[in-house]
Amino acid sequence: MPHHTPLIATIVAGLVIAFIMGALAHRLRVSPVAGYLFAGVIIGPFTPGYVADADLATELAEIGVILLMFGVGLHFSLKDLLSVRRIAVPGALAQIAGATALGLGLALILGWSVVAGLVFGLALSVASTVVLLRALQARDAVKTERGKIAVGWLIVEDLAMVLALVMLPVIADLVNGAVSDGSAVARLLFVTLLKVAGFIALMLIVGKRLIPAGLHWVAHTGSRELFRLAVLSIALGVAFGAASLFDVSFALGAFFAGMILGESQLSRRAAEETLPLRDAFAVLFFVSVGMLFDPAVVVEQPWPLVATVAIIIFGKSLIAYLIVRAFGHPNETALTVSASLAQIGEFSFILAGLGTGLGILPPEARDLILAGAILSILANPFIFSLAVGRAPVRGSGVREVAAPATPASPTGHTILVGFGRVGRLIAAAHSGPGKFVVIETRTERTEDGEPRGLIFIEGNAADPAVLEQADIEQAARLLLAIPGGFEAGAIAQNALALNPAIQIIARAHSDDEVAYLKKLGADHVIMGEREIAARMVSLLEAT
Ligand code: AMP
Repeated sequence: MPHHTPLIATIVAGLVIAFIMGALAHRLRVSPVAGYLFAGVIIGPFTPGYVADADLATELAEIGVILLMFGVGLHFSLKDLLSVRRIAVPGALAQIAGATALGLGLALILGWSVVAGLVFGLALSVASTVVLLRALQARDAVKTERGKIAVGWLIVEDLAMVLALVMLPVIADLVNGAVSDGSAVARLLFVTLLKVAGFIALMLIVGKRLIPAGLHWVAHTGSRELFRLAVLSIALGVAFGAASLFDVSFALGAFFAGMILGESQLSRRAAEETLPLRDAFAVLFFVSVGMLFDPAVVVEQPWPLVATVAIIIFGKSLIAYLIVRAFGHPNETALTVSASLAQIGEFSFILAGLGTGLGILPPEARDLILAGAILSILANPFIFSLAVGRAPVRGSGVREVAAPATPASPTGHTILVGFGRVGRLIAAAHSGPGKFVVIETRTERTEDGEPRGLIFIEGNAADPAVLEQADIEQAARLLLAIPGGFEAGAIAQNALALNPAIQIIARAHSDDEVAYLKKLGADHVIMGEREIAARMVSLLEAT
């Protein structure tokens, strides 16, 4: 290569190998995350062949964390955050204390010092933002009560880690005898808390006025490119500023940047603009984790590794489960919250790196943390499925809405997929008891409107299990009222496999989609733009 281009090489190798491994994982029907992690192992330093730059990969992963947290902030209001504080604050603190105690116990058995045990335990107590948010997003559960508790919990953990990271060097000095005055610790704690409070106040008072106003101004210029740039500048700029000026984590900074935009009309567009980048960088997060994994630890410390993984997966989740139940929340909420926290990630690596760097954590502890992270991230999709059911199907399943006369298992019925601009109009024009079963991914869509006489199923219609819930075998018609024609094609294919006689009417927005849907067996395909044009022409001719 003529130039030394480690950044480009890392991005390219990370994305390309992750793509190949992700596609392979898809074929083998395992979680794509396993593929991304494995891609990281392949380009990591512990396997032969090309070795990507681990530091650069970690930095790129941070961008993923920033964009993810920004996206979550966009869907969150201060009210949401405050509404879960009663459970999230004590819950997260109790869980951190419990998990740290378990980690300390293991450390003492292994003969490490108390301080090493505390750092080790702390590293095991914090969940990864990326893993948690992806699991919730796959189930469209971020905005549900369970999701809000999990996100609130994450924010508290994040704040606790900000404090831990700042305090660790001072504690190391104290342990090594470099300083003997305990008041230095108290002073630092106070200053750090003051900075965090200063950042939050600045965002809520000044940022809340300036940032949405700025974005509105940009939106009115009509330039898409400028709007996109503005959104990225806000997300990355605030996160970076928060980290460098206020010592707040990137994740927390980005969350607040998103939250103050959340109430603006433009938040949905802002979320859409960051989506592709967010997904690409979140993939790099998993690759960077895989790169850190040294397979030797499995052979060298098998039992400590088993104990570490057990603390992360069972110890932590049991504590979380008990706390959520103790606060009187239903079983389902407790299971979701504990499953989403049964893993560790980026903060644990930072703590482990800092701890070993300062000489207060033995290197074998760092290896256990890294291996524990990769194993718990790999196990997370299974744990989630065990706890709360398969990915796109969300807990409550079938929900009948104000329809006493509706039969529980209708036959010869119509299944309507999508309850948005199009589906809503269809249902309004044709509603009658037992006539429609509506499948919709987004809870809030099924809640608003006046869906009398309809049976609602929350879930992704592309999942055959959801179609079966809608009694597809007995249905007469399937209306695909979703904007993505290719996604609709996948639904049509699954539907026809379950009920070859079903009549399918689909919506499309391009000629390619029309051809594709027809080829897959849709009886009628309505192309939105063509209908609009036809109506305009008829009006033109009438005048
Ligand atoms: P609109 O484009 O406004 O008609 O909205 C389309 C609706 O379809 C939205 O409410 C989406 O949440 C919903 N939707 C999109 N894809 C699916 C899917 N695969 N399964 C169920 N609902 C979906």
